[in-house]
Amino acid sequence: MNLVEKILKGERAAIAKAITLVESSRDNDKEESKELVSKLILNPGHSVRVGFSGSPGVGKSSFIESFGSYLVKKDYKLGILAIDPSSQLTGGSILGDKTRMSEISKNENTFIRSTPSRGSLGGVSFGTREAAIILDSAGYDFIFIETVGVGQSEIMATNLVDIFSLIVGPGSGDELQGIKKGITEYADIFIVNKADGDLKLQASKTAADYKSALHYTSSSEESASKKVLLVSSLEQTGMDEVIKTIEEIIFSNKRSGVFEKRRSDQLAYWIKEEVRNHIQHKVEIGISENNQLEEMIKRVSLGKDTMHNTVDLILKKLMK
Ligand code: GDP
Repeated sequence: MNLVEKILKGERAAIAKAITLVESSRDNDKEESKELVSKLILNPGHSVRVGFSGSPGVGKSSFIESFGSYLVKKDYKLGILAIDPSSQLTGGSILGDKTRMSEISKNENTFIRSTPSRGSLGGVSFGTREAAIILDSAGYDFIFIETVGVGQSEIMATNLVDIFSLIVGPGSGDELQGIKKGITEYADIFIVNKADGDLKLQASKTAADYKSALHYTSSSEESASKKVLLVSSLEQTGMDEVIKTIEEIIFSNKRSGVFEKRRSDQLAYWIKEEVRNHIQHKVEIGISENNQLEEMIKRVSLGKDTMHNTVDLILKKLMK
């Protein structure tokens, strides 16, 4: 049985091997990976991709563990992909420590993987997108994509998922500021975590603040489609509402055509991103391999030529 057949049967070892392959930056692997992905997209599954983001400490890992085990008990198959913003820069990892997800990581219906946020060409990683394609073909019902904070990896995550949710803690004023700055544009669900014990009251207040902020910053149609939910990952409460909300949004978006539109817009994003990465790579190689271009850059820093003039000259040379 070849790798594609094994993936379609949902074999975990094959899935792990395939994800390693799509994340690899070796030229040989890239060819193999392209071939694999082109075969898998001919065998799509039915998975729904959900993004979870939030600042460190709000309880993303705890929520995913708690909600994940709730879903697994309901016989859903769950893939978890964490986009790790730190691993290539520091060698360390913010999301890498998945040992906290001890319960679900042992479950045979879950598959967990962290991937670095930066790809081999220096741009965003395509590995996560392709890992999601692999899990989809392998028959996973849900694919969770976890990112930290706001920034490049979050923008990337919004282009990978069907539903994007922001997890916040009780009284997180910073994120509330974020609402005003446009987070509402891409988050479908706001999950206020830690609604338990002494924090319960404050969590309810935070949820109310979010609802009113949404009301004032979005159009009525937009704010009606966005949901604010209260959960406790610790006590595993509010999970029914989360799944119900996800299902309702998916149902409504499929009916209105938003679901398909998002997926095709995302495809356009990834195509452009890939083209941009390749051009950037070619420019960098072009400059580093061509002494004349290096020389032109030096002349600008010595004040012997202008920047604009040099850019034009370099472009002309590279276009040839
Ligand atoms: P992450 O950095 O966003 O992944 O956050 P963690 O999942 O590591 O959680 C950060 C801290 O918040 C830990 O000390 C958790 O025990 C705590 N925490 C997470 N979820 C809850 C919750 O539902 N209730 C309470 N009270 N604490 C929680």
